[in-house]
Amino acid sequence: MPKPVAPYESRVPYDAQRIHAAAIYCSDGRVGDHFDDFLQNGLGLPRYDRIALPGGAACLAGHPQANLEEQGVVDELQFLVKFHAIKRVVLIAHARCAFYTERLELADPRLELVQRADLVRAAAFVHRVTGVQMIEGFFARHVDGRVRFESVEV
Ligand SMILES: [Zn+2]
Repeated sequence: MPKPVAPYESRVPYDAQRIHAAAIYCSDGRVGDHFDDFLQNGLGLPRYDRIALPGGAACLAGHPQANLEEQGVVDELQFLVKFHAIKRVVLIAHARCAFYTERLELADPRLELVQRADLVRAAAFVHRVTGVQMIEGFFARHVDGRVRFESVEV
């Protein structure tokens, strides 16, 4: 059992205003800070809503291995669209994603092609189940110890 932790007060001020944007990406904690940095500073979306799960939007691309996740994410998305008035959805796939290499058993060079195609399929699916018009896709690539976000046409 971990030891009880004393109350911790975050120094980040609370802002109740919503930005009306959501992002769906992989829960891999090694790129979590990069996703935040890109969305908040690269796209200018502070306080965006997050849907994080292994493989991110892979579960919205029709793979039978992700059926259960698909139902859950559709439900979460529809909730956010209804109650947080989401008008923009950002989908991010990342290189070396274990969901693709392990669950879908894919390897390069096919791996990235499938991830990019999945962003396109997932964008169409998100539009169909939520009605949201503004949907963007990005691929996060490792470059010299950094993570670069490249736009993918969806
Ligand atoms: Zn991943």
